[in-house]
Amino acid sequence: MNTLAIIVPCYNEQDVLKMFYGEITKVVSSIADNYSTELVFVDDGSTDRTLEILKELALRDPIVKYISFSRNFGKEAAMLAGMNYAVNADYIAIMDADLQHSPDLIPVMLKSVSEEGYDVAAARRSNRDGENKFKSFLSASFYKVINKISETKISDSAQDFRVMKNTVVKAILSLPEKIRFSKGIFSWVGFNVKWIDHTNRERAAGQTKWSLTKLMKYAIDGILGFTSLPLRLSFAFSALFAFCSLFGVIYALVRNIINHDYICSMPLTLAAIFFVGAGICLSIGILGEYTSRAYTEVKGRPQYIISQTNTRNLFTITEGAE
Ligand code: UDP
Ligand code: MG
Repeated sequence: MNTLAIIVPCYNEQDVLKMFYGEITKVVSSIADNYSTELVFVDDGSTDRTLEILKELALRDPIVKYISFSRNFGKEAAMLAGMNYAVNADYIAIMDADLQHSPDLIPVMLKSVSEEGYDVAAARRSNRDGENKFKSFLSASFYKVINKISETKISDSAQDFRVMKNTVVKAILSLPEKIRFSKGIFSWVGFNVKWIDHTNRERAAGQTKWSLTKLMKYAIDGILGFTSLPLRLSFAFSALFAFCSLFGVIYALVRNIINHDYICSMPLTLAAIFFVGAGICLSIGILGEYTSRAYTEVKGRPQYIISQTNTRNLFTITEGAE
């Protein structure tokens, strides 16, 4: 029998967890003849009753595993913890807890990876209906920029919702970076991917955990993690400034020859100084962003800390009952 682990990151999902469990267990039963399944819930430092509910579910049903973080480390860390735990399963699925990702798609994805020769079956958003227009615009612009400047192509519509063979998960885990941008990593590792069109359903309950600032930070992580082109902007600026100053000198010389009383006007000088200053600051800022990321990587802190779990996880601080 094949083994399947379904990883579910959860952050303050008390309103939806039982509903999710109800739906996913129907799917698990429907594939029980071929797959022995574990549900791996990663509680990302929730401050509501999420962990309590997970513990209740785990007592009732042995397929429920929970890994609970000591604080909120973010969805990336939650997916990583789930993959670290589940890496030895034959197939590993990742899906959100809020039922926006249809559980019904899991058997379809499993068929693609187990029978059709694909390594990954991933959901692709067929439209952005029902999504905040401003967020959609920002998101579309982000993907346009990153795909222009990065060698790793990242699809605008690709979702984290996917089923992967364990070879793929091992490849993903072999990337040691601490600041993780999974959409880029999924694409970077390659493999044979089957895209399955999927329309996000409305969130079944609760609220989105992604504020605009969280999304912006994620976008910056994505760009800085997958291209060093911004670092080279300083070269472009230096060329531009050199050209401007050369032009300025020639202009002043020529004017001086024509009109001996010519004195360069103050505002123009000030503008030039500010212009150069802005360019230098921008370059230093970009350099700083990369350096701070390098510093984070060098520090080598763990991406998450587990405080409670009912799994035998290597990084466990306190083990729950199993
Ligand atoms: N999530 C998480 N940690 C976070 C934010 C979100 O584990 O810091 C989980 C959340 O519980 C959900 C999934 O990631 O299962 C997607 O989050 P959400 O539905 O809030 O995002 P959206 O669908 O609005 O993009
Ligand atoms: Mg959601």
